Amino acid sequence: MQRMKTLSAAVLVLSLALALPIKTEALSLACTHYYEYTGHVEADGGHSEYTCKQCGYVLEVPDEDGHIWSGGIEKEDPWCTHDGYMKFTCGICGEAKTEILPEFDHLRIYIEIIKEPTCTEDGLYAGTCAFCGGRKEYSVPAEGHKLTEETVAPTYVTEGYTLVTCSKCGYNEKKDIIPALEKPAQNITVSRQTVSFKASKLKKAKRAFTIGAKTDGDGKLSYSVRYKNAKSKKVLGFRSGKVTIKKGTGKGTYAMTVRVSAVETDDYNAAEKTFKVTVKVK
Ligand SMILES: [Zn+2]
Ligand SMILES: [Zn+2]
Ligand SMILES: [Zn+2]
Ligand SMILES: [Zn+2]
Repeated sequence: MQRMKTLSAAVLVLSLALALPIKTEALSLACTHYYEYTGHVEADGGHSEYTCKQCGYVLEVPDEDGHIWSGGIEKEDPWCTHDGYMKFTCGICGEAKTEILPEFDHLRIYIEIIKEPTCTEDGLYAGTCAFCGGRKEYSVPAEGHKLTEETVAPTYVTEGYTLVTCSKCGYNEKKDIIPALEKPAQNITVSRQTVSFKASKLKKAKRAFTIGAKTDGDGKLSYSVRYKNAKSKKVLGFRSGKVTIKKGTGKGTYAMTVRVSAVETDDYNAAEKTFKVTVKVK
C-alpha cells in the first residue's frame, strides 16, 4: 500500500515536470526503502543489518542496552502532510522503539502565474503540491532594478550629473548634481592708444589707424565712443575700432574715450573695458 502511494507520486511528479513548462522545486525521487532483516554482526558493539529489497541500501541498527533490534521493522514513510516512523522490535525481549521520520516539504509545482514580479513589486504564483494536491499561493520577491550609470560633465551652460537608469523598466534618476561651471572673464586689450601724425601730411589726405582691440575670449566686440571735447569730435571719426583724422586737421592733441564690449559666449562671460585714445598732430 505504502509502495503504491510513493510510486504513483513519483510518476505524477515526473509526468508533470516533463509535460508542462513550469517551475518545480525539490524534485526528489529517492528510494523510500523496503527493508528486510539480513543478519546480525557481533563486531564493534554489535548491530543488526536491514537491506532494502529495492535499492540494496543497508541500514545498520546498533545493539542498545542489551537489546538486539532484529525483530523486523514496521515503517510508515513521512509525507508532506505528516511525519513517518520506523518501529524496531528487540528479537530477544520483544520491546519496541520508534524513530520519527520527519514530514518533508510540499513538492510545489508552479502551475499558475498570477502576477510576474517586477523590479520593485513582488510577484505572485500559485503552486500545487504534487504529493498532496494542496494549492498555495507563493510570493515571488521583486527582482530589483538593473541599473547602469552615465556621467554627464557640467558645461558653462548646463549642470553635470550622474544619470542612473534601469535597463529593464526605464526607471531613472539624476544624482550627484554638479552646478554649471563658472565662465572665465574675457580680457580686452588694445594695441594703439596714442598715435602721432604730421600736420603737413594731413593737408593732402585724411589718415586712419585701428586701435587693435582684441579679447582673449571669443566674444564679438562692439564699441562706444565719447569725445574729449568739441574740437576732438570735429576732427576725429570712429567706426568699428578704426580712428580717422580729417584731412586738413591742424596741430593739436585730440582725444576720445572708447568703451570696448565683448558679448557673452558659450565659454566666456561678457566683459567691458574703457581706453583713452589720443591723437597728436604735430
Ligand atoms: Zn531502497
Ligand atoms: Zn530486548
Ligand atoms: Zn503536499
Ligand atoms: Zn527597473
